[in-house]
Amino acid sequence: MHEMSYVVRFVSLALDRAKESGASEVRSLTVSVGEMTDIVPEYLYRYYPEAVKGTIMEGSELKVEVVPVKIRCAGCGETYHPDRSNAYSCPFCGGSKGEICQGRGMSLKELEISS
Ligand SMILES: [Zn+2]
Repeated sequence: MHEMSYVVRFVSLALDRAKESGASEVRSLTVSVGEMTDIVPEYLYRYYPEAVKGTIMEGSELKVEVVPVKIRCAGCGETYHPDRSNAYSCPFCGGSKGEICQGRGMSLKELEISS
């Protein structure tokens, strides 16, 4: 399961950040996960307690936010959410070329700490 490695990576990032701000305890960690990834939030929740065991994050709550995919159309520059109703192409000009500008990867969004 690659989710475990994501969790480990984010926990270590969050721990660095918590230490920098002089926290003695972490209450919650919020991560955003892009809709375009193959990360299953359920597994993140499952592995989290194991990953934070023995750290100042032990007992904290994990919150996962799913970020919807957005595409910036190469034809007209508008951004849209690709789905079946618009045949995954631009609803403004009908173009099918574009770049994913949101909804990829995973990032650390928020860290709630107490000192
Ligand atoms: Zn367009």
